[in-house]
Amino acid sequence: MTFDDARRDLAAWRAAFSDDPFAADGPLRALLDRVLPVDRVDALARDASRFGRAVVETVGPACTRYEHRAHLPELARYDSIGRRVEAVSFDPDYHRAGAAVWQSGLVALSGTPGRAYEQATLLYLLSLEGEAGHACPAVCTIGLARALRRVADPAIRDRFLPPLLDTEYAHAQRGSQFLTEVQGGSDVGANATVAVPQADGSYAITGEKWFCSVADAQQFLVTARVPDGPPGTRGLGCFVVPRMLDGEPNGFVLRRLKEKLGTRGMASGEIDLEAARAWPIGAVEDGFRTAAGVVLNTSRWMTAIGSAGMMRRAYVEASAYARHRRAFGRPIDEFPSTRATIADLRVMWLGALHLVFALTALEDRIDSATADDEVTVYHRFLVNATKYALSVDATAAVRSAIEVLGGNGTIEEFSVLPRLYRDSIVYESWEGTHNVLVAQVLADLHRMPIIEVVGDRIGKLCSVGASPAADRALDELDQALRDMRRSVTDAEFGARHFRGVLDRVVTIARIASLFDAGEHVAAEHLLRTRLVAERPEHDSGYASRVDTLAHADHV
Ligand SMILES: Cc1cc2nc3c(=O)[nH]c(=O)nc-3n(C[C@H](O)[C@H](O)[C@H](O)COP(=O)(O)OP(=O)(O)OC[C@H]3O[C@@H](n4cnc5c(N)ncnc54)[C@H](O)[C@@H]3O)c2cc1C
Repeated sequence: MTFDDARRDLAAWRAAFSDDPFAADGPLRALLDRVLPVDRVDALARDASRFGRAVVETVGPACTRYEHRAHLPELARYDSIGRRVEAVSFDPDYHRAGAAVWQSGLVALSGTPGRAYEQATLLYLLSLEGEAGHACPAVCTIGLARALRRVADPAIRDRFLPPLLDTEYAHAQRGSQFLTEVQGGSDVGANATVAVPQADGSYAITGEKWFCSVADAQQFLVTARVPDGPPGTRGLGCFVVPRMLDGEPNGFVLRRLKEKLGTRGMASGEIDLEAARAWPIGAVEDGFRTAAGVVLNTSRWMTAIGSAGMMRRAYVEASAYARHRRAFGRPIDEFPSTRATIADLRVMWLGALHLVFALTALEDRIDSATADDEVTVYHRFLVNATKYALSVDATAAVRSAIEVLGGNGTIEEFSVLPRLYRDSIVYESWEGTHNVLVAQVLADLHRMPIIEVVGDRIGKLCSVGASPAADRALDELDQALRDMRRSVTDAEFGARHFRGVLDRVVTIARIASLFDAGEHVAAEHLLRTRLVAERPEHDSGYASRVDTLAHADHV
């Protein structure tokens, strides 16, 4: 093989990434066809195809530039004539990519209740490029817009919501969410920032916020302690703080921007609030309920979608590479070990896709105020469990894809994978670390009939499989439900083992979603490799499943 042959192979690998990633994603399209009415799916397909093309043509190349160290956002505390502006300056490509994202309607759809499928699809497509500098701003704006739409006093809603919904990036206002303080992010109840009521119904907020992503946002959602409130989270109000008032920064100083492992193109800073004027979003005594129930849950759902999108990209990059790269005289996907990795990547991505859209179905009901108690309970479980499990799996999937690309996989300019790897690690941490989300689910088991709802929902989906593998999944579900019950009644057992129990439940939920979607081979592979950990040499169907899965996208 000559140098030119090798480069031709690499060029064929690059060309394999479709310029219309929505059209190329058969399982996603089939899923949407199955769950949405025809007119809704047709409109979504048009928008998704257009946006997917923009992600490939505009966002990806722009992002490669502004994620480079030389082009990261910079603090611009003063303007050219010395006025304090507390601004952030970006590479012009950052705004070009932002224009494409805002134009897609991803954020503007927040103005209409029950557009979760549309927003999930668009964010998934954006996430083929990782966080891309704009996923976090879009998600933060969506969370703020939802909070304003659902719970704000009408006068406050009408003042702050419309500018968040503009599809013109240059005119649109972006939102951010500042909860975390230096004394703790998981322990939001330790917030010490205070909000003092003013005579006109506004508040003056003073304190420090330690992790402030979208530091350039025009509206900040801020949690702060209200006078005479109880300690902990129950004493927190939830406020909207406009960045500028009367042409000047509204009582804040941007201390510095953080240089981060991932999500580098987006600006995260530390902010001091000094009597910043603020308006409450909903009743102040319900502040934490709004911040957690609307804002954090939106972010967790969308972080899970982002993780599924990154897994899709990891699978596509690795499977195409394995088809085109040759070693020892043959394509590397002819090596059974490489083929097994590609099969695993396909199953990880498919399981994530179907699980996160199961969560999206619940989001659609909740956002359109049509959720009953059962949906509310299942959502409460799935939003935390899915964010936890998929963010962990996304990092594993990207790492595995990097390995398929060999040394090239580690090179920044060779593929998107190094950037995805950094971003996915951040996704594991923000909006709830692993153990905090696991602890949240365990605490919720004490408060809500989650075990019954999980058993019923997942059990029904597994039954659809109607096969020995589906029966085996049902047996595993029974055991996992017993372990969940024991985690509630035996505190020591729960504290030590619930994370493992939850891992199994989420894996079964993925298997169930795969059966439900008719992806029987993938469901069985996930069951045997991840759940019952059958040794491949004792698993008679292993080789044929690997071949089927690894060649699923060969045409
Ligand atoms: C790039 C980036 C951007 C961010 N942007 C924002 C933002 O815009 N707004 C915002 O409000 N926050 C933001 N965050 C903060 C993020 O939400 C927090 O980092 C996260 O919630 C964890 O909080 P912490 O860093 O204080 O970790 P800690 O709470 O100190 O946790 C440290 C460790 O202790 C463990 N731990 C803590 N409590 C428990 C428990 N009860 N049980 C078991 N283990 C526990 C955690 O799992 C973790 O491993 C951002 C973070 C990152 C990395």
